[in-house]
Amino acid sequence: MRDRVCLVHYHEIGLKGKNRNRFERILMDNLKAALAAFSLEAIERISGHILLSFTDESEPEAALPIIAKVPGVARVSLAFRCERSHEAYAAAAIEALQEFGAFTSFKVSAKRSNTDYAIPSIDMNRQVGEVLCNAFPNKLVKMHKPDATVHVHVVQGKAFVYAKSERGVGGLPQGSAGKVVTLLSSGIDSPVATWMMARRGAIPVPVHFSGRPQTSDESEYLVRDIVEALAPAIQIGRVYVIPFGDAQREISLVCPGSLRVIMYRRIMYAVAERIARLEGARALVTGESLGQVASQTLENIAAVDEMASIPVLRPLIGSDKQEIIDRAHQIGTYELSCQTAPDCCTLFMPRRPETHARLQAVHEAWNQFDHEAMIEDLVARAEHSDFFAPVYRPPREA
Ligand code: ATP
Ligand code: MG
Repeated sequence: MRDRVCLVHYHEIGLKGKNRNRFERILMDNLKAALAAFSLEAIERISGHILLSFTDESEPEAALPIIAKVPGVARVSLAFRCERSHEAYAAAAIEALQEFGAFTSFKVSAKRSNTDYAIPSIDMNRQVGEVLCNAFPNKLVKMHKPDATVHVHVVQGKAFVYAKSERGVGGLPQGSAGKVVTLLSSGIDSPVATWMMARRGAIPVPVHFSGRPQTSDESEYLVRDIVEALAPAIQIGRVYVIPFGDAQREISLVCPGSLRVIMYRRIMYAVAERIARLEGARALVTGESLGQVASQTLENIAAVDEMASIPVLRPLIGSDKQEIIDRAHQIGTYELSCQTAPDCCTLFMPRRPETHARLQAVHEAWNQFDHEAMIEDLVARAEHSDFFAPVYRPPREA
């Protein structure tokens, strides 16, 4: 008797000492949420791995690429679970190697997590190796860097056998690091920044500034599509949308053109920070990368940073555009980000934005309009949409 299971390997969370239990539990909950559409039968811890079994035998293979994208997963294998006998795991090893795909060299890597099993791993390696050499007479055994490795892992009462596996995204399980508010446009960078924070265990709560009512609401749909493209492996439970068009118009009428973008940004940071407070989020996140555009110089970053009393994290600050684009392809947001939608970025833009703003000039422009009232008004107009994400807890209604 053997059945198919997915075996999840993790390393970073395995290093967390006393916290290990908590991290594993969060990872298990997140895997369950990511596989909500599957017939997951059981999820359990088994000697340093997480084991997932399904009622539908065809599902483990389809689940593999989804599991690989869940933060905290270092690797996931498509395994056979069988009896703890030489005959059973040797037969499974043949099948595992058959389904591996193309290879010319292989080796066996056996391991016993329970010493009550009589055969030492050295002998298991040899015995299973012999069976495989007979079954695959044209293939080579290679101890160093073989194309395929057949793992045979004997545990209490069972054996797991696998060759096929997928590399995971690594990182830490979402929910192990708390909430962050991310400023999410529909551009290329901020979805990547949002994903990076989620991969490090944070629960992103995106805030999007739309140009509505001065523009259409297209960018809002794109932002939703981006959140859905990251799901189900990345959980985002709530997205805030701020209709920013009228406020931008007001700013454009009273502030010097060159400082307008900085004024928009200061307002955005201030509104995002209020939402962070409401949500219990401990940092803001942006997709800025040093020098990429006019607003992303050190001077301009300083001019907006003073609005925030919580840390502003910029995971892409030292990345090149091409690296960000590669990542956007990998996480599946690039195509969406390339669709152009008018948002507040395209609205009331000056011809020559200031690239090295002096703080004194910034403060003068800032005091030319009732920024406090504007911030309050925008926070009051915030709208939100909710998505399936059990790891996210909404704030208590006031
Ligand atoms: P992106 O591709 O993320 O839009 P960008 O290179 O276009 O970035 P900017 O438009 O200068 O750069 O924006 C810098 C950062 O400000 C963005 O990464 C994002 O975090 C935030 N931001 C910009 N526009 C918006 C918006 N409409 N809503 C929310 N945040 C925004
Ligand atoms: Mg942008």
